[in-house]
Amino acid sequence: MYRASAAKLLFLRPTNKTIRMRKIEHIGIAVKDLEASNQLFEKLFGAPAYKTEEVVSEGVKTSFFMNGPNKIELLEATNPNSPIAKFLEKKGEGIHHIAFDVEDIEAEIKRLKEEGFTVLNETPKKGADNKLVAFLHPKGTNGVLVELCQEIV
Ligand code: ZN
Repeated sequence: MYRASAAKLLFLRPTNKTIRMRKIEHIGIAVKDLEASNQLFEKLFGAPAYKTEEVVSEGVKTSFFMNGPNKIELLEATNPNSPIAKFLEKKGEGIHHIAFDVEDIEAEIKRLKEEGFTVLNETPKKGADNKLVAFLHPKGTNGVLVELCQEIV
C-alpha cells in the first residue's frame, strides 16, 4: 500500500525538473558462449533474442531478450583484450552491469562527475541496441558497473 502511494506521488511530481535515471534499461550478463546462452535464455523466457549485434569497438557480441518490460543483454567477448574477456577471467560468468535509461546522457555525465563518480568515458559512445552509452567505474559504485544509456533518435 505504502509503495503504491509512494509510486503515485513520484509520478505526480512536477516535471519541470530534469528526469535523471528514469528506469533500469537492461541488465548485462557476461557469458562465455553466446550461442549456448541464447538457447538457454530462450528456454528461460520462452522467446528468442530479438536482436544480436556485434560492437567491434568494444570487442563484444551481444544479444537482447525482452521478458515483459525487462530487457536482458548477453555479452560475449570477441577478442582476449575485450573488457568482457577480462571480466570473465576475473569473475566468471554472471551479471556484468546494470544500465539506466537517461534522458540527457551528457547532462548526467556532468552531474555524476560533479558528485564525485568516475566516468570511464566522458564522451558518450555508440553502444549496442541504438544507444549512446557511458560507464561509471565500479570502484565508486559498490562494485557495480553502471551504464548510462540514451536512445539515439
Ligand atoms: Zn549494456
